[in-house]
Amino acid sequence: MYWLENTLLEVSLQEQLRANMLTLKIKDLYKSFASTEVLKKINLDIEEGSFLVLLGPSGCGKSTLLNIIAGLETIDKGAVFIDDYDVSKVEPKDRNIAMVFQSYALYPSMTVRENMIFGLKQAKTPKDKIEQQLEKVSNFLKVDELLNRKPSQLSGGQRQRTAMGRALVREPRIFLFDEPLSNLDAKLRVEMRHEIKKLYTSLKATMVYVTHDQIEAMSLASKIAVMNEGIIQQLDDPQTIYDKPNSLFVADFIGSPSMNFINGEIKKDSQSVMFTPNNEDNINFDLTHYEFENNFQNNQKIVVGLRPEYVSNTESTKKYTKKLSLTPTIIETTGFDKNVTFDFAGSEIIGRFTPNSGVELNNPQEVYFDLSQISIFDSNTELRL
Ligand code: ADP
Ligand code: MG
Repeated sequence: MYWLENTLLEVSLQEQLRANMLTLKIKDLYKSFASTEVLKKINLDIEEGSFLVLLGPSGCGKSTLLNIIAGLETIDKGAVFIDDYDVSKVEPKDRNIAMVFQSYALYPSMTVRENMIFGLKQAKTPKDKIEQQLEKVSNFLKVDELLNRKPSQLSGGQRQRTAMGRALVREPRIFLFDEPLSNLDAKLRVEMRHEIKKLYTSLKATMVYVTHDQIEAMSLASKIAVMNEGIIQQLDDPQTIYDKPNSLFVADFIGSPSMNFINGEIKKDSQSVMFTPNNEDNINFDLTHYEFENNFQNNQKIVVGLRPEYVSNTESTKKYTKKLSLTPTIIETTGFDKNVTFDFAGSEIIGRFTPNSGVELNNPQEVYFDLSQISIFDSNTELRL
């Protein structure tokens, strides 16, 4: 009886632990190649079933970080935990992780079928289990008609599916993707992005996905880690990253066309907080409503950021709307809307106008700035205020 109670207690404790467990945790991780530090104090907690995207410009250290998680690259300092277990010194094959590369890395002489089951065979999985997995996954990925083809007989999308199939059959704890769509043409990329989202929605497996494409990141991620020069600049859900970027870098990297930036100064008195753009002494933007997250001073140099969709021709009487008369210098039609460029306060400002707006080049135009949607950054630190 005593033994039984004890066992039950142990089981429920284990369950409790598991519920609180982080699938993947990276703690104070550093990595250099020779004298170049490519990852600096990386900390990440990834919950079970979440889709984390590592987003950043080429060379910022995304692949290095992913390779470290996979065990393909050594660590200088810090640790990687899977299910709260330090795997820093565990061999890649024992980490229960599957990786899909940009190049797909399919074996050209093997068929789709052989490529997909290669890892299972290596792991000496029983034959019937291999067949079962292959059938399930090839059905799911709709490659069951292609099993006897060689990679050279496949389209880009089919190769991509095969590479994913090879990862899926192993039922890993964590899926890693390194720019898996960047070799595809634009249309196929959007289709495959949709497929990956579907895959994630039905599997709810933990995924870490590397890309330099911000739209891919926004549409796939449950959390985005924006990286620059080996540092995680911001880790948040996509909407927060978009609406409240914590630095000029993040603000500029996310969104297309990019966020508009207007340089100027804060004018603060006991009643109000105003903004005067550079070279526009007669224009004031009312910032009194803005929820500052950090202290600021009168005359402090700041950058006001406003996304193009909040600069428009749609008449607005909203409380924090600023109306200005500006002259279009460039008009670009997307079909869905018109991107209209203006020169203002020494910068180019882009607004999104409705497609049927009668906006004309060099013809002054009323433009409405929705100031309820601004971000404010300190000019020197480039951090959000
Ligand atoms: P990303 O995937 O974000 O484009 P990487 O992680 O591939 O960036 O590379 C980060 C930096 O580390 C780059 O400057 C790259 O040149 C350098 N680097 C990557 N791998 C190696 C290596 N094996 N030896 C030396 N330098 C490397
Ligand atoms: Mg890379």
